[in-house]
Amino acid sequence: MSDELRIKFWGVRGSYPTPGAGTVKYGGNTASVEIRAGERTILLDAGTGIIPLGRELARTKRASEIMLLFSHLHHDHTQGFPFFVPAYLPNAKLHIFGPDGTHESLRNVLEHNQSSETFPVSLRDMSATKNIQSVRESQIIVWDEAGVRLAESTIGLSEEAVVVRIHKSYAHPGGVYVYRITWHGKSAVYATDTEGYVGTDKRLVKFAKDADILIHDAQYLDEHYWGQLEGFPSTQGYGHSTVTMACEVALASEVGQLVLFHHDPSYSDAMVAGMEASAKARFGDAKAAYEGLEILLSGKNNITERLQSPSPLPLFQREREQWK
Ligand SMILES: [Zn+2]
Ligand SMILES: [Zn+2]
Repeated sequence: MSDELRIKFWGVRGSYPTPGAGTVKYGGNTASVEIRAGERTILLDAGTGIIPLGRELARTKRASEIMLLFSHLHHDHTQGFPFFVPAYLPNAKLHIFGPDGTHESLRNVLEHNQSSETFPVSLRDMSATKNIQSVRESQIIVWDEAGVRLAESTIGLSEEAVVVRIHKSYAHPGGVYVYRITWHGKSAVYATDTEGYVGTDKRLVKFAKDADILIHDAQYLDEHYWGQLEGFPSTQGYGHSTVTMACEVALASEVGQLVLFHHDPSYSDAMVAGMEASAKARFGDAKAAYEGLEILLSGKNNITERLQSPSPLPLFQREREQWK
């Protein structure tokens, strides 16, 4: 069995999907990331990137058991779920975890997203077995030989166990969960929709300490955030970070690699490329996420990248090419 922790990006855009000529290089789908730990598949968020991801899981017969973690329940992290093919497969089992909404449970929010007024198929009518559980920061999600369950500690777990830890950040409206996924000694931290603090987010830095990879919100150019970019009012307090904030967390937590995530929907490929360059200047091993980017963690700081550069074709087009 493969010993690599594989991370693949299917949706990297924040706020709303952005198809079009200006976003071909990095992609226009909203947040969705796939992590493979041996035979186990863990998905982070269900933005529109989960739509092609779901088709791929069904096509490659990897849809029988899937864990889906929601960072929070804003549109751009849930809007792909009604079109997630494995949720319609009677033999598929979905373990769905996330925070409750401000006023409603995780399950209720997902049900309301598919009420008869807004979508033709209800959550209940999607055929897969769905185990939906809201989780607390103190809980640990474990996936090992005994299956998926919640635990209070990692004592006694086998080397094969996938361990998911939760950090609740208050640096986003309504709060957001940051996840740390560990398997075979390798760790990936997913910190989307979070705003930096003056002098860095100390709790987040502690949570992400020494991770092999940190996927961090970097929605804004510094000038945009501070209201110094022509035509872009300040976004301070919106709950998203600048490239500088993402780099500060990466430096302070001494992670192996930084991936900029949740690109602003109004930014062109050229703007995101510029952000990537400035992140590299500050942190070194940094890159901007793009649809199709696959990172393999095969040992401490031993990182290889599957696709060396963004494809000239958008993902859906690449898929279509494959199907021809
Ligand atoms: Zn978002
Ligand atoms: Zn959000």
